[in-house]
Amino acid sequence: TAIDQYAVFGHPINHSKSPRIHGLFAEQTGQRLQYRAADVPAELFRSAVETFFADGGKGLNCTVPLKELAWQFADRLGDRALLAKAVNTLARQTDGRILGDNTDGVGLLNDLTINHRIPLRASRILVLGAGGATRGIVAPLLEQAPAQLVIANRTLEKAEAIADEFADLGELHACGYADLNSRFDVILNATSASLGGDLPPLADDILADGGCCYDLAYANQPTAFVNWGLRHGASLSLDGLGMLVEQAAEAFYLWRGVRPDTRPVIDLLNRERTLPPLR
Ligand code: NDP
Repeated sequence: TAIDQYAVFGHPINHSKSPRIHGLFAEQTGQRLQYRAADVPAELFRSAVETFFADGGKGLNCTVPLKELAWQFADRLGDRALLAKAVNTLARQTDGRILGDNTDGVGLLNDLTINHRIPLRASRILVLGAGGATRGIVAPLLEQAPAQLVIANRTLEKAEAIADEFADLGELHACGYADLNSRFDVILNATSASLGGDLPPLADDILADGGCCYDLAYANQPTAFVNWGLRHGASLSLDGLGMLVEQAAEAFYLWRGVRPDTRPVIDLLNRERTLPPLR
């Protein structure tokens, strides 16, 4: 029988770790599948997805800048995607319809609370950025009953729109970077600034003593925001590699009904990126 086909679409996609992660999951769980990465710009998204599923593809991940298009494409939406208005996982169901889901939020929560034991309940949480990633994480964060949830963004209207949309789920506030004048226990960087080696303009006194910093972005070296956290006394300053593996595990579970063990995969990817460069 043909091997079940999966893929991640995004633009750019060249350094995606998703094929490696899903390959490791498949090996670990004894599942037979193939997972590849394809560079798909937004204007080719619809035709690429239609072709993929018409050819028998079982499931897709969608990353920057395709998550909102994937949300529009899905025939059905899971609750998490409905709220987020962004989809990172598409799955072909037995009736041929395409289900859209969003596993980013649960992926972040699993990494923060299970892997790193960072308490969110009753914490003062600051989210930087108001793009697709923020949309995926706001509802799961509010479910943790933080003391405070603030979204700061360069374009204030985008943060305000999210605060309005999610207002029914709990109290959250939108502001600009210059308005931040209190301390936070957890600061999550959901801007894409790190990808360009950049940082949002952050005051020096917004991280509480013993607070944690978490950059959703990840790289082989510490990101600019991870370094900001270290400079400002964070007890933990982490990047988004763990979240990447955790959101992938949720997608794998949705597709295959089997939950991979994320720990050995995170450990392996972490070991690989701290290897000294070859001479
Ligand atoms: P979007 O393009 O949707 O949003 C980007 C956000 O970053 C916007 O709010 C934008 O502000 C802000 N921004 C960009 N550059 C700067 C800058 N120089 N200074 C201040 N703000 C800036 O991206 P996503 O939300 O989809 O992704 C955000 C990040 O999260 C990416 O780094 C992505 O890799 C990461 N991510 C990681 C995941 C993981 O599994 N680890 C999963 C999902 C995302 P403005 O609105 O003003 O333009």
